[in-house]
Amino acid sequence: MTRLLFLTIGPFAIMTIAYWVAAPPSSAAVVSPDSATARKSFHPLDRSIPKDLTTRCQASAARLRQVLPADFQIVTRAPFLIAGDLPESTLQKVYSDVIGPVARALRETYFETSPKLPITIVICSTEDLFRQLAKDWDGHLESGYHGYYQRDKRRILLDLEAGNGSLAHELTHALSHADCEQLPEWFDEGLGALHEEASYTAKGRGLFGLPNWRCKLTKQAANSGHLPTLEALTDPTTFRSGDVGLNYAVARSMCLFLQDRQVLQKYYQELKTRWPSDQHGVSTLCRVLGVKSASQVERQFAAWVKRQASS
Ligand SMILES: [Zn+2]
Repeated sequence: MTRLLFLTIGPFAIMTIAYWVAAPPSSAAVVSPDSATARKSFHPLDRSIPKDLTTRCQASAARLRQVLPADFQIVTRAPFLIAGDLPESTLQKVYSDVIGPVARALRETYFETSPKLPITIVICSTEDLFRQLAKDWDGHLESGYHGYYQRDKRRILLDLEAGNGSLAHELTHALSHADCEQLPEWFDEGLGALHEEASYTAKGRGLFGLPNWRCKLTKQAANSGHLPTLEALTDPTTFRSGDVGLNYAVARSMCLFLQDRQVLQKYYQELKTRWPSDQHGVSTLCRVLGVKSASQVERQFAAWVKRQASS
């Protein structure tokens, strides 16, 4: 048996989103009353976190304090600094119920290298505050997303007012960044989106993605013959143009497809070493699926999508 990944913090359901297209209001986060096993088996610091990381986090917290609004609290749990306009007890609960268990499960599932530098997670309780900080800190004016990971600052900024935040999505970005400098953009987003709705494995040590609202977009495209080609999906320029919401959905579905074929972890591991010579990840995709051409991958993927139950 597995248990659904439950990411509820007080009145907030933490999950979903992070990007250009927000989840529709009906797409409630996966909820289970029992993440106790995942919490119980979670040890906050794993063996490979450097001893001085807590000191670095404390120094980063002091610097962060200088730029945060006065009513923000900060909780330091190496490698994370968690800040927000929420009571310290709530931030601690976000850490113990969500950030810690999800980060540990992601590391168990994919990532060999733990962060060596602090990762900052700033949580805003209102969309207005989120938009203000996104504009003031990073110059982001776009309105179609409710969370993002800023790679150069190793900082996640989240809006919780949308109800479903994207903590698991953004944590995937932050932890994969610490493990692997470069991933093809479509796969980086697909893997992040995969964990928007996910389940812990039996002992709470691993994580795997479940179907969510994005699958419907992929299936509609498959049924109408409008799936993007692998070339278009994997090119970072075309991934960020046209129907970006569909591209995210297809990237996530491709990760579900690889997971279903039991080659998702293998694909990630091979990409880490093959990325310089396979920057879009297509030849590695063919390799792990045991096919000779991108068109074979496209045919297998489209057939698999059409067989999936409508969500
Ligand atoms: Zn993302």
